[in-house]
Amino acid sequence: MADGELWWNVFASKACMFLRALGSVMVLIVLSLIGLTYYTTVVLVYQPLARDDGADGTFARGVLVAYHFLIFMVLWSYFACVLTEPGRVPDGWQPPPEPESEDEAENGKGGWEKGRQLSNSEKLRRFCRKCTAWKPERCHHCSVCGRCVLKMDHHCVWVANCVGAYNYKFFLLFLLYTFVATVFDAVVLLSNFVDFFKDLEANGENENGGSSSGSSSDASAPARARQGGAVAAVFVTFVLDVAFAASLLGFIIMHANLNLSNMTTIEMYEKKKTLPWRYNLGQRKNFEEVFGKSAWWWLIPAHSADQLRRLLDISRVSGGTYPDMESDGLDRDAGPTVGGQESTGLDGGGTCGTCV
Ligand SMILES: [Zn+2]
Ligand SMILES: [Zn+2]
Repeated sequence: MADGELWWNVFASKACMFLRALGSVMVLIVLSLIGLTYYTTVVLVYQPLARDDGADGTFARGVLVAYHFLIFMVLWSYFACVLTEPGRVPDGWQPPPEPESEDEAENGKGGWEKGRQLSNSEKLRRFCRKCTAWKPERCHHCSVCGRCVLKMDHHCVWVANCVGAYNYKFFLLFLLYTFVATVFDAVVLLSNFVDFFKDLEANGENENGGSSSGSSSDASAPARARQGGAVAAVFVTFVLDVAFAASLLGFIIMHANLNLSNMTTIEMYEKKKTLPWRYNLGQRKNFEEVFGKSAWWWLIPAHSADQLRRLLDISRVSGGTYPDMESDGLDRDAGPTVGGQESTGLDGGGTCGTCV
């Protein structure tokens, strides 16, 4: 083994150990961020306002109801993504038998790529040497989790879990609800943010007027400190909301495009020049592949009974090649092409940062 390769393997191993250790800490960081926004929005700003009997009180109570609903959906989708098994390869799964002769390979008998004899290196790419097990199409080995994951999208440090066939929907909903919650929070805090500064300015003018006695100034010091702390909390929360919303928007657009074209993040990096994409069923079916056929379940971070049965059936029958090539009417033998040239195969052994 070359020195460079050895160094890289050691580095990758250490990086994966670090990311594995980071997992539970990231969950705490996410919960802390949610806790901060909750404390600022609910405890500091809107709960006191909600006690008012006037229009402001009604508005504040409306904000509190909407905010609690959004935070509930954020937490639900987050823990669904964290706790759901992303996609384990069924024990003892075997790929279709390899062609025994060149003639059989030419006819596509038993093979996956008609008219093309598989090279030794391509055969090895479908076998995970770390798990010492065969892996289905679209499956990748995650070095952080230390195992193969069906239709692996990427390993996400924020959810301390791989994102794969079973929890991709929950991951997308987590992105969506977090984006909506941060935008909503930034909007409802904006007016209070401005009000706080107006109040501070007014207090400053009163004190500069020189009418206050020494004793009254002492009495208002704790109140001013509390108000200063609240302004700081609103400021930090507002900035975090805007920063997360902006970064999430780009991420949501990217994953919406991937979802509608039935492609994972790993495949996007591996196969971005490969058109047409062999798993593309059309936008509607691609969407339903992840979110299920029933629209009632699309915004809920759970699988309907039908969708769960379908996911597990595909895993059991085809080893978890999503979509299932036979039941979805796809031609397993039809390889993706670019300008009439065959690509290098589906499981090309590419890398996705720390994974694979
Ligand atoms: Zn593996
Ligand atoms: Zn992983």
